[in-house]
Amino acid sequence: MYLFKIDDTYILIDAGFNFPEWKKVFFSELQKLNLSIEDINYLIITHEHPDHVGLMEEIKLQNPNIQILMSEITQSLIKWMTDPKNEDEIQQSSDELLSRAMKYGLTEERARFIFGFSTRMHNMIPYVNPDRLLKDNDEIKFNSTKLKFIWTPGHSLGHICVFEERNRYLFAGDHILSRITPNIGTSMISPSIQKRFNFTNILDYYLKSLDKIDALNPKIIFPAHQEIIYDPHKRILEMKKHHDTRLAEVTKVIENTALTPYKISQIHFGDDLDGMNTMLALSEVLSHLIYLEEQGKIKRFEKDNRLYFIKT
Ligand SMILES: [Zn+2]
Repeated sequence: MYLFKIDDTYILIDAGFNFPEWKKVFFSELQKLNLSIEDINYLIITHEHPDHVGLMEEIKLQNPNIQILMSEITQSLIKWMTDPKNEDEIQQSSDELLSRAMKYGLTEERARFIFGFSTRMHNMIPYVNPDRLLKDNDEIKFNSTKLKFIWTPGHSLGHICVFEERNRYLFAGDHILSRITPNIGTSMISPSIQKRFNFTNILDYYLKSLDKIDALNPKIIFPAHQEIIYDPHKRILEMKKHHDTRLAEVTKVIENTALTPYKISQIHFGDDLDGMNTMLALSEVLSHLIYLEEQGKIKRFEKDNRLYFIKT
């Protein structure tokens, strides 16, 4: 979470996990700054993951005047995930994900274990009606500067970065991190989002989102995890290079042998991962496979209800 002040306005970026110890840290840090939650004017949500939205409800409850801003895709995903009316639809989507995971090469037992986790994750996300829905390039103007919201799909579909124009500071959420590359992939998507966007080739979206940020030429990046980035352009190039290398590696392992996505993910990430990381590894590998497939470099086929990829 970042808290900063522009002119007389306090702006908070993201809302942490809804865990008692996180709450305690947040409120005691505020106190150290001689601030109360009522002093904060805006809460900007970068994306819907539980470590970014957890305390949103608590914050709104304690300060009903705070303006909560998020992209319309993020709002739509959170609303879908948290509305009890959608229970059947979510169950159906989770079942589909499960059968797809088995097609990708997981055993049923392993797939059930992993996707149990993804439904549990939904329970960590609160729903709060946002005060403003953001579109790509929307702005808030201040006397001294302005904040611009950049839609950066890839790590999540509705992800936004917040760009402060005068200092060229970028609050990057999970889009750009200092030591690791954020997970790329899509898991459960609400039917309404699926109708409006084709996020199948999500790595392509992500790489374009990196270029979008590079074009802004930010001076400093404040990511949601890890260290502050003082050479954004260099970090963006490193991250693009990582994906190029991974695309080449993926192509190499299926040069002569057809493999399932799960097998490829085990080659790259090992096979001793926990449930969550198995899921992340699989979605990461799929994003690379689909990207290569779109470029005509590899192709897919099905055999015995399993999906395989091989170099063309
Ligand atoms: Zn995230």
